[in-house]
Amino acid sequence: MSSRGGPSPAHPRPDGTIIARIAPAPLDYIDPSALGYALNGGDQGVYATVSLLRVRQCVANQTNSSANLEQVLGHAIAHELGHLLPGEQSHPRAGLMQAGWGHKVLDDISKGRLFFSDGEARRIREAVARRTRHAARMPAPPS
Ligand SMILES: [Zn+2]
Repeated sequence: MSSRGGPSPAHPRPDGTIIARIAPAPLDYIDPSALGYALNGGDQGVYATVSLLRVRQCVANQTNSSANLEQVLGHAIAHELGHLLPGEQSHPRAGLMQAGWGHKVLDDISKGRLFFSDGEARRIREAVARRTRHAARMPAPPS
């Protein structure tokens, strides 16, 4: 889910730390259909942010779905991490990285069958490995 202005990108963390944030605010500066955003993706990305208000609205709009708030929130965070780690902003037509979550997606969430594709999972694992290697090369903090 893409950003439109809003906060400036965070400074990369030398240790590769990423931060998943749950914002109570509606995040008016992002796409109206998005549940969150990922800033400064790729090996430098730090924040994956999801709007709790937007997730609540998404669940409330799908009254026929059995997906609950916690399930959708968790999948929304995973979706934003799926942008942040490999640094990709694309949305395929299916799976966890698709945009525009409606009844079908929430139904898949409630049944535990919404996943990253094999390629997405591989790119995320590679990004984690790059961050881990980079962090291992960093000098230890003073004691
Ligand atoms: Zn997205």
